[in-house]
Amino acid sequence: MAEFDTLIKGGIVVDGSRMPRYRADVGIRNGAIARIGNLKNASAGKVLDAHGLIVAPGAIDLHTHYDAQIHWDPYCTIVSWHGVTSVTIGNCGFGFAPVRAADADRAMLCMTRNEAIPLAPMQQTMAFDWETFPEWMDHLERLPLGINVSQLVPVTPLVAYVLRDWEAKGRQPSARETAEIVRLLDEALDAGAIGWSSQRLPPESLASFQRDHDGTPFISDVLSDEFYLALATALGARDRGCIQYTQVTATRDGKRGAADDFAFIRQLAEQSGRPLLFNAITINDEFPESFRSQLRWLDETNARGIRVFGQASSVRIPVTFTLEDWNLFDQSPFWRDATLGTTAERKAKLCRPDIRKAMKEEYDSRAFAQSRPLLPFEIEIATYIAQHVDRPDLTKYEGLSVAQIAELDGKHVVDAMLDLSVADDLKTQWRTPLINTRPEYAQEVMTSPYTLAGVSDGGAHMKFLTAGIWPTDLLTWMVRDNRILTLEDAHHRLSGMQAWAAGMTDRGLVREGLAADLMIYDLDALRVGPVEIVNDLPAGEWRRIQRAEGYRWIMVNGQVTFEDGKCTGATPGRLLRFGSR
Ligand SMILES: [Zn+2]
Repeated sequence: MAEFDTLIKGGIVVDGSRMPRYRADVGIRNGAIARIGNLKNASAGKVLDAHGLIVAPGAIDLHTHYDAQIHWDPYCTIVSWHGVTSVTIGNCGFGFAPVRAADADRAMLCMTRNEAIPLAPMQQTMAFDWETFPEWMDHLERLPLGINVSQLVPVTPLVAYVLRDWEAKGRQPSARETAEIVRLLDEALDAGAIGWSSQRLPPESLASFQRDHDGTPFISDVLSDEFYLALATALGARDRGCIQYTQVTATRDGKRGAADDFAFIRQLAEQSGRPLLFNAITINDEFPESFRSQLRWLDETNARGIRVFGQASSVRIPVTFTLEDWNLFDQSPFWRDATLGTTAERKAKLCRPDIRKAMKEEYDSRAFAQSRPLLPFEIEIATYIAQHVDRPDLTKYEGLSVAQIAELDGKHVVDAMLDLSVADDLKTQWRTPLINTRPEYAQEVMTSPYTLAGVSDGGAHMKFLTAGIWPTDLLTWMVRDNRILTLEDAHHRLSGMQAWAAGMTDRGLVREGLAADLMIYDLDALRVGPVEIVNDLPAGEWRRIQRAEGYRWIMVNGQVTFEDGKCTGATPGRLLRFGSR
């Protein structure tokens, strides 16, 4: 019998701990790394020649929404194309357990606007033959998985389940209900959840940009401080797991409005005694004080021994959208109302003079803009480009910015954008500029000891965003092309640090005894492919994707899942209960 199942020969190991790289062979047995060293005389069932290649831990993506997509795509593309071997689902308080069968459609509707996951593919692939959280975990374990999956307990379905009301927005759970919620949280943590998650974007704030299907806030947006502290206490009592918490804190000038939010999030982490994964550190070239205020807060918090990690939107991608399904201006009541409903309803509202007038006043109000929290998706619409115009007689606008169209037609920018979209049956594709292009700012963020790279939001916003390219973008733009980070530091942020933050003990490093989750790649050849539209969802639905080049092999638990970008069909992924195998 061969000594190893697979032997990776001659590669340069970058192990994810930030230790210097070294040349070594890696022997894999039973899904784990059995030996690292000079193994040239060892026997193996299969030998992979890694000369000239980097052998590094597979990336761990702690912020995804693959809860639905995992039912039709066992690999959770696009992140798995870009070297990710473990994903965490159930982020931002969204997910599908506990849910009664009668509430299945309502639970799915929760994902349709804020995360922009189309409904029909979910309805076609999700049977809702589970109800409790432990039953959901057993369900996940039965799915074929091409990637490892860990699961957070999402607050929104948990509270809706106990209150028996998905519309209980603003009603605080009673003491008895809170006790029942905590009991079910305990049950979920016993079943192997790695913590709990929530989105809290207060509806009265200008940061409430991710709304429920009907434009109202989520249950999780309006729960009280006391309730969240009770959940933090419950996690602390178990002394295990983490909190994932989404709240917009950064203001443009780094000053206004955020102090209370920062203080409360720190209090949550302190109360639990557990790591808190905060979303998100956003880099916007025009407002560096915004991310700097977040970094200062992370420094001060961690200096006291309170573990708060900032998940950074490190990736450089534009947002591409049409007003047929766009929702990420939901923090503005005028845009929110006008982008609800069918195409015909949206068109009618986008033309209405009173709505237009309100939008223009809002746009023109500089005071409003200055006081607004900083969001990843800004209403700086003058800079948007009409990437594609559908109606043949309107293609003269293609490639022009909203500002240029406004000048050409002598119109206000809001009118310029909306007149074209409406005339084009809302099919005009708008592309935002990159907001994160300056290496020195990316370096400030990505060299903080407390920031994690990523926020793919994988499985969500799939018609707008391809943030799942983040590992490849980090390795090419930041490491290879701009030398913002060393390769060692980059891999630490891609895997070792992520595993530490989320309490995963058996992966994230290339070390003997740990899971053989690996990316084996040619750094010079690494490349992010162009944006493509593919119709590969159930029910004929489509999404935007970007592929990768340069990854020779991607390996999950010792088995190759992708070879030169081609899927092998292997499904060695595991449900990581408690973050481990
Ligand atoms: Zn999220």
